[in-house]
This record gives sequence, C-alpha cells and structure tokens, in this order.
Amino acid sequence: MIHAMVDIETFGVRPGYAIRSIAALQFDLDGRKGREFYANISLASCEERGLLVDPATLRWWAEQSEGARAKLEINQRPLLDVLAEFNVWWDQVGVQKIWGQGAAFDPVLIEAAMEKCSLRPHWKFWNVRDTRTTYELAELDTRDVKRAGIHHHGTDDCAYQVDCVAEAVRRLKRRGDGGFGNKFDSLTMGSFF
Ligand SMILES: [Mg+2]
Repeated sequence: MIHAMVDIETFGVRPGYAIRSIAALQFDLDGRKGREFYANISLASCEERGLLVDPATLRWWAEQSEGARAKLEINQRPLLDVLAEFNVWWDQVGVQKIWGQGAAFDPVLIEAAMEKCSLRPHWKFWNVRDTRTTYELAELDTRDVKRAGIHHHGTDDCAYQVDCVAEAVRRLKRRGDGGFGNKFDSLTMGSFF
C-alpha cells in the first residue's frame, strides 16, 4: 500500500499558519487501511518557528465540537519533533503518494512548516494527490458516503476520506464507456494511481 491519506488541523488555511495536529493513514485505492500516524503539536512551538494564527480560524474552532477540540489538547509536542517523526514514519511504512483534502491544503501546509524547521518532506513533489479532484471526476457527493467518528479529528477524517476516495475510484471504474469511460480507466488510472 503506497498511498497515505493525510489530514491536518490548523490555525489557518494557507502555508505559514500553525499546525495543531497531523494524522496519516496508509491505504490502497480499494479502501483497505494500513498503518496510522497521529500527533498533536503545541502552539508555542509553532510560534517559535514563525508560524501564524489566523483569527478567523480561531473563531471557526470556537464553533466546532467539544470532542474535536478536546482531542487536540492531549499530549501536545514540539513542531520539529513531530515533523521529523512524520518523515521517519513515512520511510518506515514505505508509502509514496501523499493525499490531502484539497490541492492547496494538507501537504502544502506541512511542507511550509517543515521549511521553517529546516526539514525536507520525504515525499517527491510529483507524488502529491488530492481527494477533491478525485471526487469531482467521479461526480461523488461525499455526503453519500457513510462516516463515523469525530468531525475534525484527524484520525477519523483520514478514515472517512479513504472511504470517499475508494468510492470515487469504484465509480470511475464502473463508468464503462460513458464519459471518459474505458479510456480513462486503462490510461489515466494506470498512470495516475
Ligand atoms: Mg480534519
């Protein structure tokens, strides 16, 4: 299983904002799940490295569930340690493709934080993947996919996003010769996934 779904919680939605947690889940495109990574990060350690807090995101957090917020308070660790550990996890598990929810979110913000810590991501830039593009190509409304767990708890978000990607891939394969059809299945799927 060479894929890793990554879900971060943050204090802002652009590169350069503080990261609160990193969750990752190894998976394959049939929806099978493998090894997990999870760590919370202290805000002080992000600020020491020059990462910022967006007041709009702070206000957004105040409206999220008690459960999601409580999970982020447990065992917060320094940014540098967590990012270095995530690279070690990456190598040990042997994943290659990093998936985020949105082309401009999870991997991009992690890479910006790594740069502040003088670290480099252990994935290749051409191996970054995005769930939302996949959902759109498959015309998948993710609300049709059953989810469990806490919204905005990284571990639960990763599991749900893996289920959604697997459903999207099933739909794309099932499409037959309608739309991009078999051509998409044999050519594009083969090289992209
Ligand atoms: Mg999340």
